[in-house]
Amino acid sequence: MALVVCPDCQTQVSDAAVACVKCGRPVFAAPSVFPASSEQPTRGGEVGGRASSVLSSILQFLGYGWAVLGGWLLGSTFLDTVRKVHESGGEATNAEGVGILIAVVFYGLVFIFPGLVVGALGTIVSRRRRT
Ligand SMILES: [Zn+2]
Repeated sequence: MALVVCPDCQTQVSDAAVACVKCGRPVFAAPSVFPASSEQPTRGGEVGGRASSVLSSILQFLGYGWAVLGGWLLGSTFLDTVRKVHESGGEATNAEGVGILIAVVFYGLVFIFPGLVVGALGTIVSRRRRT
């Protein structure tokens, strides 16, 4: 058992005491316990909020960026094929039709769909943080 000084009234109080005998300030295990225990939850919450904010921004940026990239690649592939068909006399061959179909499926599955899912995930994370 040791004596500690009350931070409020500077009275020496036993560290086993529940509260200061003079002013009633609670618990004196260590003077530094007061600010640390009262600030830690707030600080942790702020860091968590900031982390999820950064996470949602990254998810939305990467997700929608990935989807837009896929849309752009699909568009350019489509236009490229249309130009080729036009140059070869206006009749699309089966190979060109299949090529566009594969491009739509490929860019849709690899870029646009997962991109939108990841972007939506980022939006959900940021909405959860606000509520
Ligand atoms: Zn006191």
